[in-house]
Amino acid sequence: MTTTSRTRSASASRSQSSAATAIANHPEPERDCPLCPRLVEFRETIRAREPGWHNAPVQSFGDRNAALLIVGLAPGLQGANRTGRPFTGDYAGDLLYATLIAFGFAKGVYQARPDDGLTLIDCRISNAVRCVPPQNKPLPIEIRTCRQFLNATLADMPRVRAIVALGRVAHDSTVKALDLRAAAAPFAHGAVHDAGAVKLYDSYHCSRYNTNTGVLTPAMFESVFAKVRADLD
Ligand code: SF4
Repeated sequence: MTTTSRTRSASASRSQSSAATAIANHPEPERDCPLCPRLVEFRETIRAREPGWHNAPVQSFGDRNAALLIVGLAPGLQGANRTGRPFTGDYAGDLLYATLIAFGFAKGVYQARPDDGLTLIDCRISNAVRCVPPQNKPLPIEIRTCRQFLNATLADMPRVRAIVALGRVAHDSTVKALDLRAAAAPFAHGAVHDAGAVKLYDSYHCSRYNTNTGVLTPAMFESVFAKVRADLD
């Protein structure tokens, strides 16, 4: 991302409502972030039903000095929303973390728990939307509202050179965060888009639905990370 695009992203955040402005430019939302009423209501419902779960915005996982940022869609209800760590506790994490370990972006043994000791190597994982949405489907306004945290996350990563967007929603939000022209950077599995010092790599989301239906095979997923690994090396 160029200095100009970061400046523009910060400016866009500043122009939002006063409540949003008060917390903009922080890479992580507060636990009771109030900005998306529908998601707040859903969060409160699940908190009452499952008091032992995380049930809050899920913070990014990994070092802010990493060269690679992975952007997912949003926490899964029984995955990151339950455990509090991105992609931890549901099927998407099985494929993601196995792939990251295979390509040297993580080490340890993934056991679907935030205390499994797994660590990321030069890699950080975040989501386009930090709160769990009903049916895994955030509304456009929720994606737009939460982008201030994606903007701030990017601005907070001085060494980032590669971003892997998992799925179209993550791609579209990242394209906006990078200040790219949407028409010049269409989503396609395996596509790579130049954004100055950063490259954006597209992949279908590693959800159980996509792998069960054959939209995404482990080999297709691995080919994206092989490309990232080769470019970063
Ligand atoms: S999705 Fe993002 S902006 Fe909306 S309430 Fe959650 S943390 Fe706040």
